[in-house]
Amino acid sequence: MGRKSVHIVGGGIIGLCSAWYLNQQGFEVTIIDKGDLTDGASHGNAGMVVPSHVIPLASPGMISQGIKWMFNSKSPFYVKPRLDLSLLQWTYKFYKSCNEGHVKKAMPFLFHLNEWSKELYQEFVAHPEFNFNFQKDGLLMLYRTAHQEEEEKELAEKAHHIGLDTQVLNNSQLKELDPHINSEVKGGVYFPGDANLHPNKFVKQLTTVLKKNGVIIQTNTEVVGLEEHGGKVHSIVLEGGQKVAVENLLVAGGAWSAQILKKSGLKIYLQDGKGYSVTFNSLANKPKIPAILTEGKVAVSPIGDELRIGGTLELGGMSTNINQNRLDGIFECLPKYYQEIDIDTEQKKKVWYGYRPCTPDGMPYIGKADTCNNLYVATGHAMMGVSMGPATGKLIAEIISDTKQSMDTSMFRLNRF
Ligand SMILES: Cc1cc2nc3c(=O)[nH]c(=O)nc-3n(C[C@H](O)[C@H](O)[C@H](O)COP(=O)(O)OP(=O)(O)OC[C@H]3O[C@@H](n4cnc5c(N)ncnc54)[C@H](O)[C@@H]3O)c2cc1C
Repeated sequence: MGRKSVHIVGGGIIGLCSAWYLNQQGFEVTIIDKGDLTDGASHGNAGMVVPSHVIPLASPGMISQGIKWMFNSKSPFYVKPRLDLSLLQWTYKFYKSCNEGHVKKAMPFLFHLNEWSKELYQEFVAHPEFNFNFQKDGLLMLYRTAHQEEEEKELAEKAHHIGLDTQVLNNSQLKELDPHINSEVKGGVYFPGDANLHPNKFVKQLTTVLKKNGVIIQTNTEVVGLEEHGGKVHSIVLEGGQKVAVENLLVAGGAWSAQILKKSGLKIYLQDGKGYSVTFNSLANKPKIPAILTEGKVAVSPIGDELRIGGTLELGGMSTNINQNRLDGIFECLPKYYQEIDIDTEQKKKVWYGYRPCTPDGMPYIGKADTCNNLYVATGHAMMGVSMGPATGKLIAEIISDTKQSMDTSMFRLNRF
């Protein structure tokens, strides 16, 4: 009898990490991607690995904060108003999830998945074919206002309660860590256990090693349908009509996953949270420690010689426009927190954007469909796909191979809504 096989739709970080662990489990793996694997959400992101991020996006106060942001063209959040049933359903489920009970339940799951991923990244680091600037410098949550200070300290308290190392620092303590921070910054919470990496390098190196290990990667090939009957997906349909028979199918199509699954009878709730990033090379007075500028929700990620800044979350229905106002909002944030930082360079014009796959409760989907016995899904990691990538890959490989799971997956169930 031949080896068992899995077809994976989507070669972003989630599809690639899944392929890595499935290949190790002895599966024959084929990845099919509609692009060329060089510019998806898994590339230009901030590359932060964040066990500190234990609070799901759906949490108390998010609805009122989101409404306030909607009236500010430079704010970090926007929903394009439109009559779209899937957006309405998503928003209602988001609203239902924004409560303390959900946050309390979600926190240990998010912590465990992120922390486990960080450990798995260290295994990649030890591998001679990987070199992706994995830096264990921690993460600073910087604040300038008393209101934000209160919020960040409260979050730090919750994080500390579930076992995270947290340090509340004043301005001079912050400057000892990162002398580029200016005097306007009131303070910050330091999470020494966080890390960051160069996502473009990681994804590229992983693709190369997977190919070497026999994984087939078919690029520029769009999956337009799934053929399902009798509780099983029999084949995937490619653009042009060609059908490919599948034994097991994993959908890891990022923000497109709901659309890919449409014809399988499995409904998942997902919106695309578009975000921007800009990467600066050899910038003078570059910040030293990765940080979130909390009032503007801007991510600052020094990666090797580069500085990558990113932000905004626009639920815009896969819009391809670059919203200059929101980008200006990101740029204007930097000098409010750092001294002598001059980003007025040509590099500012090289804007990257990607779509974060966002679920209504801020938890990923990782599991097996109850509609088809050979259909699996791994998506919905929103702003933590890099951070949770390796652990998600390992977990879905355990689920597909029906081996003992390393963690409780009940909060990642596909049918939880
Ligand atoms: C500005 C910004 C900053 C971010 N910063 C961080 C960070 O610091 N840390 C972190 O952990 N996360 C971060 N993220 C989030 C992270 O980038 C995502 O969670 C992650 O990349 C999602 O990976 P994925 O594999 O699910 O999706 P993707 O990378 O989007 O991959 C999905 C793939 O599926 C393919 N596909 C889609 N439809 C089809 C089809 N029909 N047929 C074939 N192929 C298909 C696509 O071409 C794509 O390659 C950030 C995101 C943004 C936008």
